[in-house]
Amino acid sequence: MATFQAPKGTYDLIPPVSVKYLAVREAIAAPLRNSGYGYIETPGFEDVGLFARGVGESTDIVSKEMYAFETKGGDQLALRPEGTASVLRAALEASLHKKGNLPVKLWYSGSYYRYEKPQKGRYRHFSQVGAEAIGAEDPALDAELIILADQAYRSLGLRNFRILLNSLGDKECRPVYREALQSFLSGLDLDEETVRRAEINPLRVLDDKRTDVQKQLVGAPALRDYLCDACKAYHEEVRTLVTAAGVAFEDDEKLVRGLDYYTRTTFEFVHDGLGSQSAVGGGGRYDGLSEMIGGPALPSVGWALGVDRTVLALEAEGIDLGIPAATSVFAVALGEEARRVLFGKVTELRRAGVAADFSYGGKGLKGSMKDANRSGARLTVVAGERDLAEGVVQLKDMESGEQAPVALADLVDAVRARLA
Ligand code: ATP
Ligand code: MG
Repeated sequence: MATFQAPKGTYDLIPPVSVKYLAVREAIAAPLRNSGYGYIETPGFEDVGLFARGVGESTDIVSKEMYAFETKGGDQLALRPEGTASVLRAALEASLHKKGNLPVKLWYSGSYYRYEKPQKGRYRHFSQVGAEAIGAEDPALDAELIILADQAYRSLGLRNFRILLNSLGDKECRPVYREALQSFLSGLDLDEETVRRAEINPLRVLDDKRTDVQKQLVGAPALRDYLCDACKAYHEEVRTLVTAAGVAFEDDEKLVRGLDYYTRTTFEFVHDGLGSQSAVGGGGRYDGLSEMIGGPALPSVGWALGVDRTVLALEAEGIDLGIPAATSVFAVALGEEARRVLFGKVTELRRAGVAADFSYGGKGLKGSMKDANRSGARLTVVAGERDLAEGVVQLKDMESGEQAPVALADLVDAVRARLA
């Protein structure tokens, strides 16, 4: 018989490591929930055209990494490679932008799929938590998102990350720069694919990670020198607000990011302990995206933080999140009658809000105590026929090893008092 393995480029989240992923998602979500962002969930797949138009045909994501397929009904769909296009599509579809109160602020958490060359920190199925502020052009929003991501990483104890910041200009000034860059690029010795990229989206050539390309890019015209006054002022305001919040960043004029839809503010969070997969998150302003997917003009800004790489960053910094054991009380019953009674007590404890577990599988005392130890519970309740005849159970403190009888009827109160 064949045995199956997780598909190439994927991995399973299993206990005890999986609790870290939950903790990371929670740590990223908490500052968003606390700042007016509402939770949104969209399907795992969308019309392929949404990404082709939204993310951009010339991007690696669409041209190489997308899981696109035709359904039995003939629909052209793709597993979502990122969150922003879907969230904006959903917001437009629900007319959230017409119900007043712009910006619409949303956060999400989920799985994303890219057909990439698998390596540490780069998978075909990965997890992101993201945030989008839709429908307002306000530098304070850009600043808010940068500050909230910083807060999320810091709440996890991360310190060795850096924030890279840039402005990509807007539809006034970027075309001028684009032309200047294009004419610079046309003088370089580039492979066919890169030449094509330079024609479609020359800014993305700046993002090329290959050293032979990077070498040739020395002396390329700098976007900074082409920004219009409005973009300059906007960017200065973002920088001022982020600085005033005590959040350090580095200006990085080469930062263009891999998606076509960005305008003005772009930023990336990089961690120095991750080798070449160093980006733990990124985002920026995408004032043109709504119109690109058929909506009205809705200037917006957002980010997505990678959960997998954030967990790797925690490991790189040797951070122990100090997550308490899930189980507080573990019940060990010896004999049929004790099983019935203690199982009932476990149910009672759970209903009282105490995290309780039970030794299943009819093990003896030794095996059951091993289970109790493994569970990490602070207290163990042990009962055999003799205890029950006396109307008691033995309550054991797993740290001190102390054990004392407690009247069966008082067990729930006694446990709560001990755990308080
Ligand atoms: P990279 O340059 O490393 O490919 P990206 O620019 O493609 O990253 P984004 O699309 O901005 O990444 O996604 C935001 C975050 O999601 C990244 O910073 C990263 O933490 C995470 N991420 C992206 N692709 C992957 C992947 N294949 N595996 C794991 N995490 C990923
Ligand atoms: Mg990528």
